[in-house]
Amino acid sequence: MIPLSIPNFEGNEEKYVLDAVSQGWVSTGGAYITQFEEKLASFVNVPKAVACQSGTAALHLSLMECGVKAGELVIAPTLTFIAAVNPIRYIGADPVFMDCDDSLCMDPDKLEKFCESECELIEGVLTHKGTGKCIRALVVVHVFGNMADMERIMDIASSYNLKVVEDATEALGTRYVTGRYAGKFAGTIGDFGAYSFNGNKIITTGGGGMVVASNQDELNHIAYVSTQCKDDPLFYIHNEVGYNYRMTNVQASIGVAQMETLEEFIDRKNNNYDKYCSLFVGNDNVTMMPFRKGTKSNKWFYALKVNKKDTDMHALVHKLSELGVQTRLIWGLISEQKPYEDSIAYSIEKAKEYSKCILNIPCSTNLKEEEISIVCDKLNGLLRS
Ligand SMILES: *Cc1c(COP(=O)(O)O)cnc(C)c1O
Repeated sequence: MIPLSIPNFEGNEEKYVLDAVSQGWVSTGGAYITQFEEKLASFVNVPKAVACQSGTAALHLSLMECGVKAGELVIAPTLTFIAAVNPIRYIGADPVFMDCDDSLCMDPDKLEKFCESECELIEGVLTHKGTGKCIRALVVVHVFGNMADMERIMDIASSYNLKVVEDATEALGTRYVTGRYAGKFAGTIGDFGAYSFNGNKIITTGGGGMVVASNQDELNHIAYVSTQCKDDPLFYIHNEVGYNYRMTNVQASIGVAQMETLEEFIDRKNNNYDKYCSLFVGNDNVTMMPFRKGTKSNKWFYALKVNKKDTDMHALVHKLSELGVQTRLIWGLISEQKPYEDSIAYSIEKAKEYSKCILNIPCSTNLKEEEISIVCDKLNGLLRS
């Protein structure tokens, strides 16, 4: 079976893990944690990063630091992994679901229209007219490693006093190469950026996350909150409610090794993407979804759009599996999931369409050239014009 996406440990992972264990530094203290933070921060060109237990924890910490409170609203996408939205509920706030555009990321036109026509600024705080609830933040997801339209989104956020949390959990390494944000990495443009090192992300620590922020005081506060809000290293003094969200040294030891191969992984993802594109040429029934112009993407996940109208997508996944190719369908809309059925969903159109026709195809960094050919042969065979 050619797997969809599996971790790749070709480097110093075992060596560093053994080192961490043999030194006895297995928990939430140890040199690998700071080393991992420094390596990631320097990779995405920011002064500091804070390691935590998961991408979900990174998002939760970021939203709390935005000052979002229970009973408020947070703007978020409907077409993404549900972990991007759940932290809004952890705080007791509710999402307002936004549509995607053809990049699969948040549609800036609809975002702007929503803020303009459905909300008003009251004493500087965006307020939803229908419910009277405050909106202080939005979560933008760089879907499959594709940069959202950050130029537009940052302009809109600034007009309406919204803090921007970038869910860059899928987009570590994605960067602008031209335009206003040339040289800027996904996660480092908004107020907060969250990364994930879950098993299928471009690099993994088994489970883990990282937060970066434009305001270093706020980032230091996030570090404090993630370690139980300890106000004194010796005595048990805690002046706020904290969380046990710190990454462990064992996780970080894997992360340090993975950082050494990140640039290589990005190259492979890019090369494999190009190879897929070339092998699907001539088959009008499928389109490889493109990545934003003016960026270098990490091309973390490949989204194949099935154009043939009557295709039974579930049957397609099963057939491919029988033929030895593991694929999966894009997520169902979060606004249609049970916990979020009653949340506000603003003019969801494109996300509905895309959620019915996108197939994710094998994209591991250790994928072999002949495996790519096999995947394309099977797909071209099943979906011939
Ligand atoms: C993976 C992912 C997360 C959550 O990261 P974890 O480390 O698994 O908690 C959040 N948002 C998106 C879009 C993701 O793909």
